Amino acid sequence: MARADKYTIRDLKRDFGTEARCLEFIFDTLHSRKCSCGGAYVLIKGRRQFQCSKCRFQIAPTAGTIFHKSPTPLNLWFYTIFIFSNAKSGVSAKEVERQLGTTYKTAWRMLYLIRKSLAKKSEDYLTGDVEMDETYMGGRKRAGTYNINRKQAMENKSVVIGAVERGGELRAEVSKNDRAKTIGSFLDRNVNPITSRRLITDESNRYDKVAVGYNRHTVQHNLKEFVKGDVHVNTLESFWSHVKRSTKGTHKVISKKYLQTYLDGFVFHYNNRHNDRERFSHLVGALLPVSK
Ligand SMILES: [Zn+2]
Repeated sequence: MARADKYTIRDLKRDFGTEARCLEFIFDTLHSRKCSCGGAYVLIKGRRQFQCSKCRFQIAPTAGTIFHKSPTPLNLWFYTIFIFSNAKSGVSAKEVERQLGTTYKTAWRMLYLIRKSLAKKSEDYLTGDVEMDETYMGGRKRAGTYNINRKQAMENKSVVIGAVERGGELRAEVSKNDRAKTIGSFLDRNVNPITSRRLITDESNRYDKVAVGYNRHTVQHNLKEFVKGDVHVNTLESFWSHVKRSTKGTHKVISKKYLQTYLDGFVFHYNNRHNDRERFSHLVGALLPVSK
């Protein structure tokens, strides 16, 4: 028997197996079948249009969505969304190209638009115990402590600042630098000083001025102290290493320009880690924002 928290290829075929099923789903998510004139909207055969049975008014359900004007069949779009939703280590355009038989360009564009839709930042603040940390990503060269070209290697890397509520959500952002002011701005926008119980960081003095008002606890990384009771930033560090490992395995190299959208994909997976079915449905929800 199928488990309720799973969403399998069988579910996908049933729900989004044909162009018409996809169109009906998109229409029903964004509009009502009942027209104000008393008529009902019906899909026009062979077109991405619905028409009212009485007043003949037409609605194109894909207008304003990422599917708009895309010549790719919608069932292939939903198959791509399904692959993306299930790929916890990310999915490359090459992989989608192979599985769907589309061109590389089409596959790349679909994945790009899916990731881009995940950028909408949550308005909620992180609360409880919050870990915060920065890391460096990208660039072809390894930094390495003893590398004589370390400076050059570091210049090609991007700073990523992140925070995670233990047992809750994670946020991560590509930043222009790792200065105190930048860290402070991220902190202000993401962590509530009143409802957070502890703010756990490393010993970096960049937090000294900006984390005023937060109940800050630090772990001394430079003394090789990584865990002091439950004062650690391991939740965030294991996320960083997951992203780095996955990036290396799946995407090879990510340019600075697209790093944030890839990161949004990984954050989405982290924040929806418990339930495959919900993750798929949240992803589809993010792609079809209801504005009415
Ligand atoms: Zn009507």
